[in-house]
Amino acid sequence: MPDVMEQVVNLCKRRGFVFPSADIYGGFRSAYDYGPLGTNMLRNVKAAWWRSMVQLRDDVVGLDAAILSPPAIWAASGHLDTFTDPLVDCRSCKERFRADHLKNLEVCPKCGNKGTLTEARNFNLMFKTSVGPVEDSASVAYLRPETAQGMFINFGNVLQTSRKKPPFGIAQIGKSFRNEITPGNFVFRTREFEQMELEFFVPPAEGTRWFEYWCDERVRWYTDLGIPADQLRLRAHDPDELSHYSSGTSDIEFSFPFGWGELEGIAQRTDFDLKKHAEASGQPLEYFDQATGERYVPYVIEPAAGATRTMMAFLIAGYTEDEVKGEKRTLLRLHPRIAPYQVAVLPLSKNDELVPTSREVLGLVQPHFMCDYDQTQNIGRRYRRQDEIGTPICITVDFETKDDRAVTIRDRDTLEQVRVPIDRLVPELHDRLGL
Ligand code: ATP
Repeated sequence: MPDVMEQVVNLCKRRGFVFPSADIYGGFRSAYDYGPLGTNMLRNVKAAWWRSMVQLRDDVVGLDAAILSPPAIWAASGHLDTFTDPLVDCRSCKERFRADHLKNLEVCPKCGNKGTLTEARNFNLMFKTSVGPVEDSASVAYLRPETAQGMFINFGNVLQTSRKKPPFGIAQIGKSFRNEITPGNFVFRTREFEQMELEFFVPPAEGTRWFEYWCDERVRWYTDLGIPADQLRLRAHDPDELSHYSSGTSDIEFSFPFGWGELEGIAQRTDFDLKKHAEASGQPLEYFDQATGERYVPYVIEPAAGATRTMMAFLIAGYTEDEVKGEKRTLLRLHPRIAPYQVAVLPLSKNDELVPTSREVLGLVQPHFMCDYDQTQNIGRRYRRQDEIGTPICITVDFETKDDRAVTIRDRDTLEQVRVPIDRLVPELHDRLGL
């Protein structure tokens, strides 16, 4: 098979999933814009996470914290001091690298010159900006490099207002920003990206049990949504890899075409963050258990995933080429919960006679599922287009539909076609899509 990565990147641009940002100005440094299909798909990835982590549980609540944040947060969390990557430059070709990504610090991997790489120096990944009309030290603010701190600084607010007690979690989805030295591999590593993070607060003695629980739960989330188990692995960090706050971390990794890459880190953050913020702010961040009279700072288990990176993994895992009646077919085998459109409504031809019924069918299905409607080109070509963007079901309205009040539904993966009465269409689609 040709390089899957290249095929997926091409498909993303050609069909409107992901465009290079500021394309008309020649692009902007590994930034990307999500097009009509990518926007749907990314929303679906986030909605599937929210459904599993918040909606289907009674022990997790949501939060949407500010992106612009004062230095105090990042001083207390340790990011101002330690959220750095080791940066080396090549004196010859001027390229920059992350020293921890290089196997050999003697030779520049770009120009091949020997002894031209500088000593590594620590480079802070946070984006700094200033708030208000005067640029002075009092106006410094940062774009958050992770969503997690929002949950820690709101721990007291949520505890007081939500009537939850440990074990319970706070979940957040949102943009984070890191001034990555070497962004790349499409949307795998970008400077602006979206995270889906849960901070799960537990009695300290229960930390390890909940860590194992979340490792299992999170792997299952990916496999339930169609990523084959053999393309995933759970890898425990070596002690020298651990972040400054972590007493143990496992990464869920996906087998990308360029090698294993992290989709999500599950960390035991202990009571590090709550204690640091309590110390720095002077506000107690602890739980008082009225039943036992016990007061303690909860331990935290953090499953932290990337929405944009996960979307890319779904695209790569779903990318398939097969052959139908001797003709090559490209399809995205996306789970119906993730696919940009769940259903496409296609009149058999552009004939005026078919349009009113097709529109009626579209109106019937649209409130339940994200639908595409397409009436140009021959039907075979339109099926191929829908296969290529991962639409699980096509509904075809033909010349008999007006008389027998039935349509044909076609399955993307099996290519099976069955006739279904219009008045049974919506429950039939719910059944078939499992939604
Ligand atoms: P990496 O080692 O790849 O730099 P990390 O371990 O620093 O990632 P975390 O801080 O654990 O990442 O962030 C949680 C998740 O956020 C990652 O697993 C990844 O999915 C996503 N993520 C982190 N940095 C980026 C980025 N620059 N671009 C896209 N997604 C990212």
